[in-house]
Amino acid sequence: MNDVAGELFLIATPIGNLADITLRALETLRQVDLVAAEDTRTAKKLFNHYQITAPLISLHDNSSARRLDELLVKLQVGVKIGMISEAGTPGISDPGYRLIQLAAQAGIRITPIPGACAAISALSAGALPLDAFYFVGFLPSRSGPRQRRLEGLKEITATLIFYESPRRLDATLEIMEKVLGDRSACIARELTKVYEEFLRFPLSQLRALGAERTWRGEITLLVSGCDRDRALTPAALANAESQIRERLADPDFVKDYSNRDLVEILQSEFPHCKRRQIYDLVLTRK
Ligand code: SAM
Repeated sequence: MNDVAGELFLIATPIGNLADITLRALETLRQVDLVAAEDTRTAKKLFNHYQITAPLISLHDNSSARRLDELLVKLQVGVKIGMISEAGTPGISDPGYRLIQLAAQAGIRITPIPGACAAISALSAGALPLDAFYFVGFLPSRSGPRQRRLEGLKEITATLIFYESPRRLDATLEIMEKVLGDRSACIARELTKVYEEFLRFPLSQLRALGAERTWRGEITLLVSGCDRDRALTPAALANAESQIRERLADPDFVKDYSNRDLVEILQSEFPHCKRRQIYDLVLTRK
């Protein structure tokens, strides 16, 4: 690759199973001039497995401003750089953001090469609502800021996604139950690996499990959004339907909106109701 313009490729790599890499990621890793890697040792394992020979340079959270400048200058003079993190999608609870931001400001073309991401894999199989989700990543490690962060998430109705270390999981489950209440949750452990496991239980039961076992491996934790458990019971859904009917019977509410607007507004007010159900109520209103 020796076009005039440089390009930054954000290349997703596996989160455990080495086969989880796309054909395009391999092709890109073979074509770039240089790969900036969070951890060059992990990168070498991947490179050896797939016979990739691109030169490696390390880029992590503690990299100096000089290292970033060096990479930016290379991009500006036409070098094609691939960026990879230790696992998964670069920049997602991983380094990368500073270079992405600098490259964007400098007008460098930035191309994502999508692939594995623990948050999305956990969410897809966690069996908690998927219509809206909120990625939190790691909570602060100190207990005061941790509690405050959770307080700030209390009202969010979307499914919450956390990354957590096995060492802290018990303490996290305890404080979550205290601050968020006993919500439905899922521990997605060792995704894509031999001991992959999904534990789909309320926070209190996950906490009880923690008393019987020692958590190991990599963990992504999903927690149901505010009121979603309650909102999904048949009684709650029937109640929501009567509230929607009431809203639609109010001439002051409906007069300024098209049917389409009404559906949008009501869907945001009642996120747990099916769009189709709201649509039918709007069309059949008296
Ligand atoms: N960039 C990565 C991604 O796209 O998912 C995440 C990097 S973050 C530093 C690492 C955290 O992601 C781990 O501590 C764990 O919480 C979660 N994680 C990574 N791999 C995982 C796996 N195989 N199973 C479950 N969680 C995983």
